[in-house]
Amino acid sequence: MNLVKRDLKAIWHPYTQMKTASAPIPIVRGEGLYLIDEHGNRYMDVVASWWVNIHGHSHSYIAQKVSEQLHTLEHVIFAGFTHPTAVELAERLLAIIPDNQQKIFYSDNGSTAVEVALKMAFQYWHNSGISKKKVLAFNNSYHGDTFGAMSVSARSAFTNAFESLLFDVEYIDLPTPENLSNLKSHISNLSDHISSFIFEPLVQGAGGMIMYEAAPLDELIRFCKEQNILVIADEVMTGFGRTGKLFACNYLTEQPDMICFSKGLTGGTMPLGITSCSQAIYDRFLSDDKLKTLFHGHSFTANPVACAASLASLDLLLKEETMKQIEMICEKHSVFKNKIVGHAKLFDIRQQGTILAMEWNYGENTSYFNEVRDKLYNFFLENKIIMRPMGNVLYLLPPYCITTAELDFVYGKIEEALEKF
Ligand SMILES: *Cc1c(COP(=O)(O)O)cnc(C)c1O
Repeated sequence: MNLVKRDLKAIWHPYTQMKTASAPIPIVRGEGLYLIDEHGNRYMDVVASWWVNIHGHSHSYIAQKVSEQLHTLEHVIFAGFTHPTAVELAERLLAIIPDNQQKIFYSDNGSTAVEVALKMAFQYWHNSGISKKKVLAFNNSYHGDTFGAMSVSARSAFTNAFESLLFDVEYIDLPTPENLSNLKSHISNLSDHISSFIFEPLVQGAGGMIMYEAAPLDELIRFCKEQNILVIADEVMTGFGRTGKLFACNYLTEQPDMICFSKGLTGGTMPLGITSCSQAIYDRFLSDDKLKTLFHGHSFTANPVACAASLASLDLLLKEETMKQIEMICEKHSVFKNKIVGHAKLFDIRQQGTILAMEWNYGENTSYFNEVRDKLYNFFLENKIIMRPMGNVLYLLPPYCITTAELDFVYGKIEEALEKF
């Protein structure tokens, strides 16, 4: 039996209707920007393998550091024990994230990083003897697939089956200079009940690469803080250079109480999640009363191999040549955007840093299930480019190792698609 047949016999894939989906593409190697299938076809991975990869596939420096770590210490229970890679990663991250962040809590992935932040926020109020049960979130938000993370994500086709089981969330529109005062008065009516405000800074990823401005967000954060609402920035997708700066929070003047990281954290090589928090959050759990402990942990909390991958990825990210690559991608995206902006086939084209998104003008249905999705997906695949449109939203967020020639090739194919569909 070939790989695909064996796969279909044994495996249930994520976000996949197994009855109607086409067979998965068997990838046997990764090399920089490219994923290589069992027949030797080389695909340009311009969606960074579900938005995680930042330095290219099978990077030899990360591989070497991971291998060294595997030969030194592969895992140790993280309650009652510690290890050098976890400590070094925490120190190095704290040095580059917003400076009110004082503690690092490890978990396994983006969803768990969000779960931890929500639990910190709810229990912060619980430990203070205050009951606050609501969370404030944006329409079209996405924060993960576990129950808490799903609860604070927008209600959608993804959450339909679970709706009655999800906890109480107040959804608001993204802030603009025009709606800010309405948002504020709405929030102030509810603020006694709201434990925290969670948001994806500047770019709502899974919601359709929706982008918004830093200035009104800053004002909203400032207002939430005044109203005693804890502020959680979900940088799972935006972190580690994606938005053009190291973190999307670097565009803000206000600092969140907690920040969630994952995806690019390990360079996209290993699963790892981090929730950082301010001293004030941390201090609220310090007590002689054991019940005030944050009772949360995972078997693989602060896994040394994942931490080693993250340290290696940070080494690469902070190199001048990587920063120059990020700048290059931002500039080229911007030039291409200006070239095709206003195209009749596009509702909208938008960019934040290394993320470029185009909203296709195709029928009335601008949703995840829009039919143009399959046409675009297949067209790019035939041209050996991996893009995975969300409905009518086509986007790219390439690994930072992509070259100018490779970017030009992808832009050219987008222009072809604009002619064709
Ligand atoms: C992907 C994503 C998550 C969930 O991360 P997983 O590792 O897939 O659980 C959470 N928040 C945002 C903003 C994301 O893009």
